[in-house]
Amino acid sequence: MFSTMQDVPLTVTRILRHGATVHGTSTVTTWTEDGPVVRTFAEVAARSAQLAHALRDELGIREGDVVATLMWNNTEHQEAYLAVPSMGAVLHTLNLRLPAQQLAYIVNHAADRVIVVDGSVLPLLAAVLPQLADTLEHLVVSGPYDPALLAGFAGGVHEYEALIADRPTDFPWRDDLDERAAAAICYTSGTTGDPKGVVYSHRSVYLHCMQVNAADSFGLTGQDTVLPVVPMFHVNAWGIPHAAFMSGANLLMPDRFLQPKPLAEMIDRIRPTVSAAVPTIWNGLLDELDAGGHDATSLRMVVIGGSACPPALMKGFEERHGIRVVHAWGMTETSPLGTFATPPAGLTPEQEWPYRVTQGRFPASVEARLTGPSGERMPHDGVSAGELEVRGPWIAGAYFAGAGRDPERPADKFSEDGWLRTGDVGTITADGFLTLTDRAKDVIKSGGEWISSVELENQLMAHPEVAEAAVVAVPDEKWGERPLATVVLRPGATAGLRELRAFLAERVASWQLPERWAIVEAVPKTSVGKFDKKVIRADYAAERLE
Ligand code: ADP
Repeated sequence: MFSTMQDVPLTVTRILRHGATVHGTSTVTTWTEDGPVVRTFAEVAARSAQLAHALRDELGIREGDVVATLMWNNTEHQEAYLAVPSMGAVLHTLNLRLPAQQLAYIVNHAADRVIVVDGSVLPLLAAVLPQLADTLEHLVVSGPYDPALLAGFAGGVHEYEALIADRPTDFPWRDDLDERAAAAICYTSGTTGDPKGVVYSHRSVYLHCMQVNAADSFGLTGQDTVLPVVPMFHVNAWGIPHAAFMSGANLLMPDRFLQPKPLAEMIDRIRPTVSAAVPTIWNGLLDELDAGGHDATSLRMVVIGGSACPPALMKGFEERHGIRVVHAWGMTETSPLGTFATPPAGLTPEQEWPYRVTQGRFPASVEARLTGPSGERMPHDGVSAGELEVRGPWIAGAYFAGAGRDPERPADKFSEDGWLRTGDVGTITADGFLTLTDRAKDVIKSGGEWISSVELENQLMAHPEVAEAAVVAVPDEKWGERPLATVVLRPGATAGLRELRAFLAERVASWQLPERWAIVEAVPKTSVGKFDKKVIRADYAAERLE
Protein backbone atom coordinates (compact mmCIF):
# COMPACT_ATOMS: atom_id res chain seq x y z
CA MET A 1 0.00 0.00 0.00
CA PHE A 2 1.30 3.48 -0.82
CA SER A 3 0.80 6.44 1.44
CA THR A 4 -1.75 9.13 0.78
CA MET A 5 0.75 11.94 1.32
CA GLN A 6 1.84 14.62 -1.14
CA ASP A 7 5.05 13.83 -2.99
CA VAL A 8 6.81 17.19 -2.76
CA PRO A 9 10.48 17.23 -3.78
CA LEU A 10 12.91 18.42 -1.11
CA THR A 11 14.93 21.10 -2.91
CA VAL A 12 17.17 24.09 -2.28
CA THR A 13 14.57 26.10 -4.22
CA ARG A 14 12.16 25.58 -1.32
CA ILE A 15 14.79 26.69 1.17
CA LEU A 16 15.43 29.85 -0.88
CA ARG A 17 11.72 30.72 -1.17
CA HIS A 18 11.10 30.14 2.51
CA GLY A 19 14.05 32.27 3.65
CA ALA A 20 13.21 35.04 1.19
CA THR A 21 9.63 35.41 2.41
CA VAL A 22 8.96 34.09 5.90
CA HIS A 23 12.42 35.21 7.07
CA GLY A 24 12.79 38.09 4.64
CA THR A 25 13.87 40.49 7.39
CA SER A 26 16.66 38.24 8.73
CA THR A 27 20.08 39.48 7.70
CA VAL A 28 23.39 38.46 6.15
CA THR A 29 26.19 40.64 7.49
CA THR A 30 29.60 40.54 5.84
CA TRP A 31 32.63 41.84 7.73
CA THR A 32 34.73 44.14 5.54
CA GLU A 33 37.66 46.49 5.96
CA ASP A 34 35.15 49.36 6.08
CA GLY A 35 32.94 47.74 8.68
CA PRO A 36 29.94 45.40 8.46
CA VAL A 37 27.75 45.38 5.33
CA VAL A 38 24.19 44.22 6.02
CA ARG A 39 21.57 42.85 3.61
CA THR A 40 18.23 41.25 4.42
CA PHE A 41 17.36 37.73 3.29
CA ALA A 42 14.80 39.31 0.94
CA GLU A 43 17.53 41.45 -0.63
CA VAL A 44 19.91 38.50 -0.88
CA ALA A 45 17.17 36.42 -2.54
CA ALA A 46 16.46 39.23 -5.01
CA ARG A 47 20.15 39.45 -5.87
CA SER A 48 20.25 35.65 -6.22
CA ALA A 49 17.48 35.98 -8.80
CA GLN A 50 19.53 38.61 -10.63
CA LEU A 51 22.55 36.31 -10.57
CA ALA A 52 20.45 33.44 -11.94
CA HIS A 53 19.24 35.66 -14.80
CA ALA A 54 22.81 36.65 -15.58
CA LEU A 55 24.04 33.06 -15.48
CA ARG A 56 21.21 31.85 -17.72
CA ASP A 57 20.72 34.72 -20.14
CA GLU A 58 24.21 36.14 -20.46
CA LEU A 59 26.50 33.19 -19.73
CA GLY A 60 24.30 30.40 -21.10
CA ILE A 61 24.15 28.24 -17.97
CA ARG A 62 21.61 25.43 -18.26
CA GLU A 63 20.31 22.73 -15.96
CA GLY A 64 23.11 20.37 -14.87
CA ASP A 65 25.94 22.78 -15.76
CA VAL A 66 28.56 23.29 -13.08
CA VAL A 67 29.13 26.78 -11.68
CA ALA A 68 32.09 27.09 -9.32
CA THR A 69 32.93 29.60 -6.59
CA LEU A 70 36.37 30.57 -5.32
CA MET A 71 35.28 32.84 -2.49
CA TRP A 72 35.46 33.63 1.19
CA ASN A 73 32.35 33.51 3.37
CA ASN A 74 30.40 36.56 2.24
CA THR A 75 27.03 37.73 0.94
CA GLU A 76 27.89 37.19 -2.74
CA HIS A 77 28.89 33.62 -1.95
CA GLN A 78 25.56 33.14 -0.19
CA GLU A 79 23.82 34.43 -3.32
CA ALA A 80 25.61 31.82 -5.44
CA TYR A 81 24.72 29.13 -2.85
CA LEU A 82 21.06 29.91 -3.36
CA ALA A 83 20.91 30.81 -7.07
CA VAL A 84 22.97 28.04 -8.63
CA PRO A 85 21.15 24.96 -7.25
CA SER A 86 17.73 26.63 -7.40
CA MET A 87 18.07 27.22 -11.16
CA GLY A 88 18.93 23.53 -11.63
CA ALA A 89 22.69 24.05 -12.04
CA VAL A 90 25.34 22.55 -9.75
CA LEU A 91 27.39 24.57 -7.26
CA HIS A 92 31.06 23.61 -6.99
CA THR A 93 32.84 25.30 -4.10
CA LEU A 94 36.60 25.54 -4.75
CA ASN A 95 38.92 25.46 -1.77
CA LEU A 96 41.10 28.54 -2.08
CA ARG A 97 43.86 26.99 -0.02
CA LEU A 98 44.36 23.98 -2.26
CA PRO A 99 47.75 23.61 -3.92
CA ALA A 100 47.58 25.01 -7.49
CA GLN A 101 47.84 21.61 -9.11
CA GLN A 102 44.86 20.23 -7.15
CA LEU A 103 42.82 23.36 -7.82
CA ALA A 104 43.35 22.89 -11.57
CA TYR A 105 42.55 19.20 -11.21
CA ILE A 106 39.16 19.73 -9.59
CA VAL A 107 38.10 22.57 -11.94
CA ASN A 108 38.83 20.31 -14.91
CA HIS A 109 37.42 17.17 -13.30
CA ALA A 110 34.09 18.81 -12.49
CA ALA A 111 34.05 20.56 -15.91
CA ASP A 112 33.30 23.96 -14.35
CA ARG A 113 31.83 26.32 -16.99
CA VAL A 114 31.84 29.45 -14.84
CA ILE A 115 33.88 30.44 -11.80
CA VAL A 116 32.63 33.21 -9.52
CA VAL A 117 35.76 34.48 -7.80
CA ASP A 118 36.54 37.08 -5.13
CA GLY A 119 38.88 39.74 -6.54
CA SER A 120 41.08 39.29 -3.46
CA VAL A 121 41.91 35.68 -4.43
CA LEU A 122 42.13 36.22 -8.18
CA PRO A 123 45.96 35.83 -8.15
CA LEU A 124 45.46 32.19 -7.04
CA LEU A 125 43.18 31.49 -9.96
CA ALA A 126 45.24 33.48 -12.46
CA ALA A 127 48.23 31.26 -11.66
CA VAL A 128 46.39 28.10 -12.72
CA LEU A 129 44.43 29.49 -15.70
CA PRO A 130 46.90 28.03 -18.24
CA GLN A 131 46.21 24.56 -16.83
CA LEU A 132 42.43 24.81 -17.12
CA ALA A 133 40.51 23.03 -19.85
CA ASP A 134 38.26 24.68 -22.46
CA THR A 135 35.18 23.85 -20.40
CA LEU A 136 35.81 27.02 -18.37
CA GLU A 137 34.10 29.77 -20.37
CA HIS A 138 33.53 32.65 -17.97
CA LEU A 139 34.90 34.29 -14.87
CA VAL A 140 32.71 36.48 -12.71
CA VAL A 141 34.85 38.62 -10.40
CA SER A 142 33.39 39.98 -7.17
CA GLY A 143 34.99 43.07 -5.63
CA PRO A 144 38.03 45.06 -6.76
CA TYR A 145 40.68 43.22 -8.78
CA ASP A 146 43.63 43.69 -11.07
CA PRO A 147 42.48 43.08 -14.71
CA ALA A 148 46.11 42.53 -15.80
CA LEU A 149 45.97 39.18 -14.01
CA LEU A 150 43.50 37.91 -16.61
CA ALA A 151 45.34 39.12 -19.71
CA GLY A 152 45.91 35.56 -20.95
CA PHE A 153 42.35 34.31 -20.37
CA ALA A 154 40.45 33.77 -23.62
CA GLY A 155 37.00 33.41 -22.03
CA GLY A 156 34.58 36.06 -20.82
CA VAL A 157 35.40 38.21 -17.79
CA HIS A 158 32.54 39.93 -15.93
CA GLU A 159 32.29 42.09 -12.86
CA TYR A 160 29.78 40.64 -10.42
CA GLU A 161 27.86 43.82 -9.61
CA ALA A 162 27.78 45.04 -13.22
CA LEU A 163 26.68 41.60 -14.41
CA ILE A 164 23.67 41.34 -12.10
CA ALA A 165 22.67 45.02 -12.15
CA ASP A 166 19.29 45.94 -13.66
CA ARG A 167 18.14 42.34 -14.04
CA PRO A 168 14.76 41.17 -12.73
CA THR A 169 14.67 40.51 -8.99
CA ASP A 170 12.54 37.42 -9.30
CA PHE A 171 13.32 34.27 -11.23
CA PRO A 172 11.25 31.30 -12.41
CA TRP A 173 12.99 29.01 -9.91
CA ARG A 174 12.61 25.35 -10.78
CA ASP A 175 9.82 23.88 -8.65
CA ASP A 176 9.82 20.57 -10.44
CA LEU A 177 13.46 19.60 -9.91
CA ASP A 178 14.06 15.97 -9.13
CA GLU A 179 15.09 15.96 -5.48
CA ARG A 180 17.75 13.38 -6.34
CA ALA A 181 19.39 15.70 -8.88
CA ALA A 182 22.81 17.20 -8.12
CA ALA A 183 22.76 20.44 -6.12
CA ALA A 184 26.42 20.81 -5.15
CA ILE A 185 29.83 19.19 -5.54
CA CYS A 186 32.51 19.18 -2.86
CA TYR A 187 35.92 17.61 -3.21
CA THR A 188 37.82 16.15 -0.28
CA SER A 189 40.97 18.08 0.46
CA GLY A 190 43.04 15.26 -0.99
CA THR A 191 45.32 14.55 1.95
CA THR A 192 46.16 11.30 0.12
CA GLY A 193 46.12 11.26 -3.69
CA ASP A 194 43.85 13.32 -5.91
CA PRO A 195 40.82 15.00 -4.31
CA LYS A 196 37.62 12.97 -4.60
CA GLY A 197 34.31 14.53 -5.57
CA VAL A 198 31.11 14.05 -3.59
CA VAL A 199 27.89 15.19 -5.28
CA TYR A 200 25.15 16.26 -2.88
CA SER A 201 21.55 16.02 -4.04
CA HIS A 202 18.81 18.57 -3.32
CA ARG A 203 17.26 15.97 -1.06
CA SER A 204 20.49 15.33 0.88
CA VAL A 205 21.09 19.08 1.34
CA TYR A 206 17.52 19.60 2.51
CA LEU A 207 17.49 16.74 5.00
CA HIS A 208 20.95 17.64 6.27
CA CYS A 209 19.78 21.24 6.86
CA MET A 210 16.89 19.97 8.92
CA GLN A 211 19.39 18.09 11.05
CA VAL A 212 21.62 21.19 11.41
CA ASN A 213 18.54 23.02 12.66
CA ALA A 214 17.48 20.22 15.01
CA ALA A 215 17.69 20.99 18.72
CA ASP A 216 20.19 18.17 19.21
CA SER A 217 22.55 19.85 16.72
CA PHE A 218 23.11 23.55 16.07
CA GLY A 219 19.43 24.07 16.85
CA LEU A 220 19.31 27.26 14.77
CA THR A 221 16.17 29.40 15.05
CA GLY A 222 15.12 32.85 13.95
CA GLN A 223 16.49 34.14 17.26
CA ASP A 224 20.06 33.17 16.41
CA THR A 225 22.91 34.90 14.65
CA VAL A 226 25.34 32.33 13.36
CA LEU A 227 28.99 32.94 12.52
CA PRO A 228 30.31 30.24 10.20
CA VAL A 229 34.07 30.55 10.60
CA VAL A 230 34.33 27.22 8.83
CA PRO A 231 34.74 28.23 5.18
CA MET A 232 31.94 27.85 2.66
CA PHE A 233 34.47 25.91 0.58
CA HIS A 234 34.87 23.32 3.36
CA VAL A 235 31.90 20.94 3.17
CA ASN A 236 29.51 23.82 2.48
CA ALA A 237 30.36 25.48 5.80
CA TRP A 238 28.81 22.41 7.44
CA GLY A 239 25.41 23.24 5.95
CA ILE A 240 25.01 26.52 7.84
CA PRO A 241 24.33 28.86 4.86
CA HIS A 242 21.32 26.85 3.67
CA ALA A 243 20.21 25.95 7.20
CA ALA A 244 20.10 29.66 8.08
CA PHE A 245 17.71 30.37 5.21
CA MET A 246 15.57 27.51 6.46
CA SER A 247 15.45 28.66 10.08
CA GLY A 248 15.76 32.43 9.70
CA ALA A 249 18.99 32.64 11.72
CA ASN A 250 20.96 35.77 10.81
CA LEU A 251 24.32 35.07 9.19
CA LEU A 252 27.54 36.83 10.15
CA MET A 253 30.07 36.21 7.38
CA PRO A 254 33.73 36.79 8.30
CA ASP A 255 34.98 37.08 4.68
CA ARG A 256 38.78 36.82 4.74
CA PHE A 257 39.12 38.13 8.30
CA LEU A 258 39.76 34.79 9.96
CA GLN A 259 42.55 35.87 12.28
CA PRO A 260 41.87 35.86 16.05
CA LYS A 261 41.78 39.66 16.38
CA PRO A 262 39.11 40.48 13.77
CA LEU A 263 37.12 37.41 14.83
CA ALA A 264 37.08 38.60 18.44
CA GLU A 265 36.12 42.07 17.24
CA MET A 266 33.21 40.90 15.09
CA ILE A 267 31.91 38.67 17.89
CA ASP A 268 32.10 41.61 20.25
CA ARG A 269 30.27 43.98 17.88
CA ILE A 270 27.70 41.81 16.05
CA ARG A 271 27.07 39.44 18.97
CA PRO A 272 26.53 36.06 17.26
CA THR A 273 24.88 33.34 19.33
CA VAL A 274 26.35 30.31 17.54
CA SER A 275 29.61 29.68 15.73
CA ALA A 276 31.51 26.79 14.15
CA ALA A 277 35.13 26.09 13.22
CA VAL A 278 38.00 23.61 13.33
CA PRO A 279 40.04 23.45 16.57
CA THR A 280 43.11 25.30 15.26
CA ILE A 281 41.05 28.46 14.64
CA TRP A 282 39.44 28.32 18.07
CA ASN A 283 42.80 27.81 19.69
CA GLY A 284 43.90 31.20 18.34
CA LEU A 285 40.62 32.83 19.31
CA LEU A 286 40.90 31.52 22.88
CA ASP A 287 44.31 33.18 23.25
CA GLU A 288 42.83 36.42 21.94
CA LEU A 289 39.90 36.29 24.36
CA ASP A 290 42.24 35.38 27.22
CA ALA A 291 44.22 38.53 26.46
CA GLY A 292 41.09 40.49 27.43
CA GLY A 293 39.27 43.45 25.92
CA HIS A 294 36.59 41.51 24.01
CA ASP A 295 33.17 40.32 25.08
CA ALA A 296 32.18 36.98 23.58
CA THR A 297 29.37 36.15 25.99
CA SER A 298 26.74 36.40 23.24
CA LEU A 299 27.82 32.92 22.06
CA ARG A 300 25.47 30.30 23.46
CA MET A 301 27.29 27.53 21.62
CA VAL A 302 30.43 26.98 19.60
CA VAL A 303 30.60 23.83 17.51
CA ILE A 304 34.05 22.38 16.98
CA GLY A 305 34.76 19.56 14.54
CA GLY A 306 36.95 18.63 11.63
CA SER A 307 39.56 17.14 13.92
CA ALA A 308 39.49 15.97 17.52
CA CYS A 309 38.84 18.90 19.84
CA PRO A 310 41.39 18.98 22.67
CA PRO A 311 39.48 18.89 25.99
CA ALA A 312 41.73 21.69 27.27
CA LEU A 313 40.35 23.94 24.54
CA MET A 314 36.75 23.12 25.44
CA LYS A 315 37.40 23.74 29.12
CA GLY A 316 39.29 26.97 28.41
CA PHE A 317 36.29 28.47 26.60
CA GLU A 318 33.84 27.27 29.20
CA GLU A 319 35.70 28.00 32.40
CA ARG A 320 37.29 31.31 31.43
CA HIS A 321 34.63 32.75 29.10
CA GLY A 322 31.40 30.90 29.87
CA ILE A 323 31.10 29.66 26.28
CA ARG A 324 29.81 26.14 25.75
CA VAL A 325 31.83 24.21 23.20
CA VAL A 326 30.14 21.26 21.54
CA HIS A 327 32.16 18.59 19.80
CA ALA A 328 30.96 17.15 16.46
CA TRP A 329 32.34 14.73 13.89
CA GLY A 330 31.87 14.57 10.16
CA MET A 331 33.55 14.51 6.79
CA THR A 332 33.00 15.70 3.22
CA GLU A 333 31.36 12.37 2.46
CA THR A 334 28.84 12.85 5.29
CA SER A 335 27.65 16.38 4.31
CA PRO A 336 29.26 16.65 7.05
CA LEU A 337 27.08 16.27 10.17
CA GLY A 338 27.74 12.75 11.49
CA THR A 339 27.67 13.06 15.27
CA PHE A 340 27.01 15.73 17.89
CA ALA A 341 28.15 15.46 21.51
CA THR A 342 25.14 16.33 23.66
CA PRO A 343 25.40 14.52 27.01
CA PRO A 344 22.43 12.61 28.46
CA ALA A 345 20.10 14.35 30.93
CA GLY A 346 20.43 14.42 34.70
CA LEU A 347 24.19 14.81 35.02
CA THR A 348 26.18 17.41 36.89
CA PRO A 349 28.51 19.56 34.74
CA GLU A 350 31.43 17.47 35.99
CA GLN A 351 29.69 14.21 35.03
CA GLU A 352 28.91 15.61 31.58
CA TRP A 353 32.57 16.00 30.58
CA PRO A 354 33.30 12.33 29.73
CA TYR A 355 30.40 12.50 27.21
CA ARG A 356 31.28 15.93 25.86
CA VAL A 357 34.84 15.02 24.93
CA THR A 358 33.62 12.10 22.79
CA GLN A 359 32.69 12.76 19.16
CA GLY A 360 29.05 12.35 20.24
CA ARG A 361 25.93 10.50 19.12
CA PHE A 362 24.61 9.79 15.64
CA PRO A 363 21.30 11.37 14.67
CA ALA A 364 18.48 9.03 13.70
CA SER A 365 19.28 9.36 10.00
CA VAL A 366 22.86 8.19 10.36
CA GLU A 367 23.41 4.50 11.09
CA ALA A 368 26.83 3.37 12.26
CA ARG A 369 28.76 0.15 12.66
CA LEU A 370 32.33 -0.81 13.50
CA THR A 371 34.32 -3.24 11.40
CA GLY A 372 37.30 -5.14 12.81
CA PRO A 373 40.53 -6.00 10.99
CA SER A 374 39.09 -9.20 9.45
CA GLY A 375 35.82 -7.60 8.43
CA GLU A 376 33.98 -8.76 11.57
CA ARG A 377 31.29 -6.58 13.23
CA MET A 378 32.57 -5.18 16.51
CA PRO A 379 30.16 -4.79 19.45
CA HIS A 380 29.07 -1.32 20.54
CA ASP A 381 30.42 -1.77 24.06
CA GLY A 382 32.61 1.31 24.36
CA VAL A 383 35.74 -0.85 24.34
CA SER A 384 35.97 -2.81 21.08
CA ALA A 385 37.59 -0.66 18.39
CA GLY A 386 37.01 -0.89 14.67
CA GLU A 387 36.75 1.17 11.50
CA LEU A 388 33.63 3.32 11.55
CA GLU A 389 31.18 2.70 8.70
CA VAL A 390 28.06 4.80 8.19
CA ARG A 391 25.01 5.01 5.97
CA GLY A 392 22.13 7.42 5.63
CA PRO A 393 20.34 9.86 3.32
CA TRP A 394 23.12 12.48 3.46
CA ILE A 395 26.03 10.03 3.31
CA ALA A 396 27.92 9.51 0.02
CA GLY A 397 27.35 6.18 -1.69
CA ALA A 398 30.01 6.73 -4.38
CA TYR A 399 32.49 9.28 -5.74
CA PHE A 400 31.97 11.48 -8.77
CA ALA A 401 34.05 10.15 -11.67
CA GLY A 402 33.46 13.07 -14.04
CA ALA A 403 30.52 14.04 -16.23
CA GLY A 404 29.02 11.15 -18.19
CA ARG A 405 30.97 8.52 -16.25
CA ASP A 406 29.63 5.98 -13.80
CA PRO A 407 30.32 6.92 -10.16
CA GLU A 408 33.24 5.12 -8.52
CA ARG A 409 32.96 2.89 -5.48
CA PRO A 410 36.51 1.98 -4.46
CA ALA A 411 36.53 -1.02 -2.13
CA ASP A 412 38.60 0.79 0.51
CA LYS A 413 35.93 3.51 0.72
CA PHE A 414 32.65 1.63 0.34
CA SER A 415 31.70 -1.76 1.74
CA GLU A 416 30.19 -4.39 -0.54
CA ASP A 417 26.77 -3.64 0.92
CA GLY A 418 27.12 0.08 0.24
CA TRP A 419 28.17 1.62 3.58
CA LEU A 420 30.76 4.40 3.63
CA ARG A 421 34.07 3.28 5.15
CA THR A 422 35.21 6.42 6.95
CA GLY A 423 38.85 5.51 7.58
CA ASP A 424 38.29 6.58 11.19
CA VAL A 425 38.97 4.12 14.01
CA GLY A 426 37.09 4.19 17.29
CA THR A 427 34.59 2.73 19.72
CA ILE A 428 30.84 3.20 20.21
CA THR A 429 29.08 2.76 23.55
CA ALA A 430 25.81 0.88 23.98
CA ASP A 431 24.02 4.24 24.24
CA GLY A 432 25.62 5.42 20.99
CA PHE A 433 28.56 7.69 21.92
CA LEU A 434 31.37 7.54 19.37
CA THR A 435 34.97 7.96 20.49
CA LEU A 436 37.51 8.18 17.70
CA THR A 437 40.97 7.07 18.65
CA ASP A 438 42.53 8.02 15.35
CA ARG A 439 42.37 8.11 11.62
CA ALA A 440 43.38 4.65 10.41
CA LYS A 441 46.39 6.16 8.68
CA ASP A 442 47.50 8.21 11.71
CA VAL A 443 47.33 5.55 14.39
CA ILE A 444 50.80 4.50 15.62
CA LYS A 445 51.37 0.76 15.29
CA SER A 446 53.99 -0.02 17.89
CA GLY A 447 54.94 -3.67 18.43
CA GLY A 448 51.44 -5.03 17.82
CA GLU A 449 49.78 -2.36 20.01
CA TRP A 450 48.00 0.71 18.71
CA ILE A 451 48.86 4.09 20.18
CA SER A 452 46.35 6.89 19.63
CA SER A 453 48.09 10.03 18.34
CA VAL A 454 45.01 12.04 19.34
CA GLU A 455 45.21 10.88 22.95
CA LEU A 456 48.85 11.95 23.25
CA GLU A 457 48.07 15.30 21.60
CA ASN A 458 45.14 15.95 23.92
CA GLN A 459 47.25 15.23 26.99
CA LEU A 460 50.10 17.43 25.79
CA MET A 461 47.79 20.29 24.92
CA ALA A 462 46.52 20.21 28.49
CA HIS A 463 49.94 21.53 29.58
CA PRO A 464 49.55 25.28 30.18
CA GLU A 465 52.68 26.16 28.21
CA VAL A 466 51.82 24.08 25.13
CA ALA A 467 50.03 25.96 22.35
CA GLU A 468 49.78 23.02 19.92
CA ALA A 469 51.03 19.46 19.78
CA ALA A 470 50.96 17.01 16.89
CA VAL A 471 52.03 13.39 17.27
CA VAL A 472 52.92 11.16 14.30
CA ALA A 473 54.32 7.70 13.72
CA VAL A 474 57.94 7.39 12.68
CA PRO A 475 59.56 4.14 11.55
CA ASP A 476 61.38 2.24 14.27
CA GLU A 477 63.62 -0.79 13.77
CA LYS A 478 62.53 -2.57 16.91
CA TRP A 479 58.84 -1.65 17.24
CA GLY A 480 57.84 -0.99 13.63
CA GLU A 481 56.59 2.49 14.51
CA ARG A 482 56.97 4.80 17.49
CA PRO A 483 55.37 8.17 18.28
CA LEU A 484 57.17 11.42 17.63
CA ALA A 485 55.80 14.50 19.40
CA THR A 486 56.11 17.93 17.81
CA VAL A 487 55.24 20.75 20.19
CA VAL A 488 54.61 24.47 19.76
CA LEU A 489 55.28 26.31 23.02
CA ARG A 490 53.45 29.46 24.08
CA PRO A 491 55.44 32.72 24.04
CA GLY A 492 57.55 33.00 27.18
CA ALA A 493 57.23 29.29 28.01
CA THR A 494 59.92 27.88 30.27
CA ALA A 495 59.05 24.18 30.02
CA GLY A 496 61.69 22.02 28.38
CA LEU A 497 61.17 18.68 26.70
CA ARG A 498 62.18 16.87 29.87
CA GLU A 499 59.33 18.52 31.77
CA LEU A 500 56.83 17.82 29.01
CA ARG A 501 57.87 14.20 28.94
CA ALA A 502 57.42 13.95 32.72
CA PHE A 503 54.00 15.65 32.42
CA LEU A 504 52.93 13.08 29.82
CA ALA A 505 54.42 10.18 31.78
CA GLU A 506 51.93 10.87 34.57
CA ARG A 507 49.03 10.62 32.16
CA VAL A 508 49.68 7.80 29.67
CA ALA A 509 51.09 4.26 29.88
CA SER A 510 54.88 4.14 29.72
CA TRP A 511 54.92 2.15 26.45
CA GLN A 512 52.96 4.96 24.79
CA LEU A 513 55.42 7.65 25.82
CA PRO A 514 57.28 9.18 22.84
CA GLU A 515 61.06 8.88 22.82
CA ARG A 516 61.34 11.37 19.99
CA TRP A 517 60.46 15.01 20.47
CA ALA A 518 60.81 18.25 18.56
CA ILE A 519 59.95 21.82 19.49
CA VAL A 520 58.66 23.57 16.38
CA GLU A 521 57.62 27.11 15.45
CA ALA A 522 54.29 25.98 14.00
CA VAL A 523 52.54 22.73 13.16
CA PRO A 524 52.05 22.46 9.37
CA LYS A 525 48.34 22.70 8.46
CA THR A 526 46.22 21.33 5.60
CA SER A 527 44.10 23.51 3.33
CA VAL A 528 41.25 23.29 5.83
CA GLY A 529 43.36 24.07 8.89
CA LYS A 530 44.00 20.59 10.26
CA PHE A 531 47.38 19.23 11.36
CA ASP A 532 49.10 18.01 8.20
CA LYS A 533 50.52 14.76 9.49
CA LYS A 534 51.70 13.69 6.04
CA VAL A 535 54.10 16.66 6.01
CA ILE A 536 55.23 16.10 9.59
CA ARG A 537 55.87 12.41 8.90
CA ALA A 538 57.91 13.27 5.81
CA ASP A 539 59.91 15.90 7.73
CA TYR A 540 60.80 13.51 10.53
CA ALA A 541 60.84 10.14 8.75
CA ALA A 542 64.59 9.80 9.34
CA GLU A 543 64.40 10.87 13.01
CA ARG A 544 66.54 8.63 15.22
CA LEU A 545 66.70 8.21 18.95
CA GLU A 546 69.37 10.37 20.50
P1 ADP B 1 39.78 15.68 4.63
O1 ADP B 1 39.41 14.23 4.66
O2 ADP B 1 40.22 16.12 3.31
O3 ADP B 1 40.61 16.14 5.78
P2 ADP B 1 37.26 16.27 5.76
O4 ADP B 1 36.98 17.59 6.31
O5 ADP B 1 36.20 15.56 5.03
O6 ADP B 1 38.45 16.48 4.82
O7 ADP B 1 37.83 15.38 6.94
C1 ADP B 1 37.10 14.39 7.57
C2 ADP B 1 37.93 13.73 8.63
O8 ADP B 1 38.28 14.65 9.65
C3 ADP B 1 37.23 12.61 9.34
O9 ADP B 1 37.28 11.41 8.60
C4 ADP B 1 38.02 12.53 10.64
O10 ADP B 1 39.21 11.78 10.48
C5 ADP B 1 38.39 13.96 10.90
N1 ADP B 1 37.45 14.53 11.88
C6 ADP B 1 36.39 15.32 11.66
N2 ADP B 1 35.78 15.66 12.81
C7 ADP B 1 36.49 15.07 13.81
C8 ADP B 1 36.37 15.04 15.24
N3 ADP B 1 35.43 15.71 15.89
N4 ADP B 1 37.26 14.29 15.91
C9 ADP B 1 38.24 13.62 15.29
N5 ADP B 1 38.41 13.63 13.95
C10 ADP B 1 37.55 14.34 13.22
